[in-house]
Amino acid sequence: MPNGTVVSPWLRDSPGALLGLFRASTNGLTKSEAVRRSGLSRTAINQRLSLLLAARLLQPTDVGARTGGRPADRFHLNRDQGVILIADTGATGMRVALCDMVAAVLEEAYERIDITDGPAAVLSRVKRLFDEFLDRQGRTPSEVLGIGIDVPGPVDHDSGRVVSPPIMTGWHDFDISAYFRPHYECPVIVEKDVNAMAFGEHRLVHADTSDIVFVKLGTGVGTGLVIDGEIYRGADGAAGDVGHIPLEANATGTDAPVCRCGNLGCIEAYAGGWALVRDLKALGRPVDSIDDVIREALEGRQDATRLMRQAATIIGTAVSDLVNILNPRTIVIGGQLAAVQELLFAGVREVVYRRSLPLATRELRIVPSALDGRAGVHGLARLVTDEVYSVERINRLVGTLSQGVTPVA
Ligand SMILES: [Zn+2]
Repeated sequence: MPNGTVVSPWLRDSPGALLGLFRASTNGLTKSEAVRRSGLSRTAINQRLSLLLAARLLQPTDVGARTGGRPADRFHLNRDQGVILIADTGATGMRVALCDMVAAVLEEAYERIDITDGPAAVLSRVKRLFDEFLDRQGRTPSEVLGIGIDVPGPVDHDSGRVVSPPIMTGWHDFDISAYFRPHYECPVIVEKDVNAMAFGEHRLVHADTSDIVFVKLGTGVGTGLVIDGEIYRGADGAAGDVGHIPLEANATGTDAPVCRCGNLGCIEAYAGGWALVRDLKALGRPVDSIDDVIREALEGRQDATRLMRQAATIIGTAVSDLVNILNPRTIVIGGQLAAVQELLFAGVREVVYRRSLPLATRELRIVPSALDGRAGVHGLARLVTDEVYSVERINRLVGTLSQGVTPVA
């Protein structure tokens, strides 16, 4: 319930739904405002408020103003009730964060990693950072109310397991939630990195539009889809994997490059960061990483700029297909390679506007990510708080507390 909108009688009547209204209000709500927005009676609001206050989910606003024994009338979400832990994991680096219950980042660290070191090595470093953050914030593991982790590969959303990831050696079928379960008693959300990025960009920057596509140009090429304000994962969690669409339908023979997934001629095998490193190296340029490719392109080196232009055209082809299928309002381009903005955006825009239907491009915007590499962290933090405060969970939680609670006068 992203906007706290009350949608059905069942939702409207529950304490969990009322909490959603408070979450959607930055400055909290008075009882009268809660009555008006929920459509509930004052008696019903008092009863539900008592439950939410007893569970410490809400607290009175401006306690200092409560003089003369007058009870507080304004209440807001108790953002310090607990904390959430986040790890946004890419192929070569991870951003780990501790956030409060309104998804504001309180601590954050970036570390270089190699995802191919496998789950034990990578997750033990995540766990160490989690421990350090909790220590510094004076929090215990029991105060962790939710964990969100994303990975640069396909995730079966229901089981939280990584499935046949092309670049994540040793991660296949690994149960990431189970790794953290002995240490924390809270939900663990596992997500594909581009989905988290799309969600973060949508909630923080493009909340006014319901449909966006996030294109991540890093080591690989991936897209995250937000449709009607929610992540679109497809039937099995594999939606949006454009990096492994073949550039030509019948790529065979010796001219089509081999992709990391084992197939020939995937989009990523031409336009992914790893492919650009491969091609520049073959041309004798001194490059070992995507950072080197970006440096060469920004310095205006001929081979690098030519390859970037070619990559932009190829990515534009994939994006224009998505535009024709999904008709998003906004395409957000992020990931390391997005740093080469001038070459990249001109190329992508040119192809997308030429190949897509006029109706789909009339109001289409193609923009760089506005979150400076933090779209994943912000998206995960909001996915986790949405889960922690889901109507069903809150109703269950306050249901166990409901005996013996006296309504607020
Ligand atoms: Zn592939």
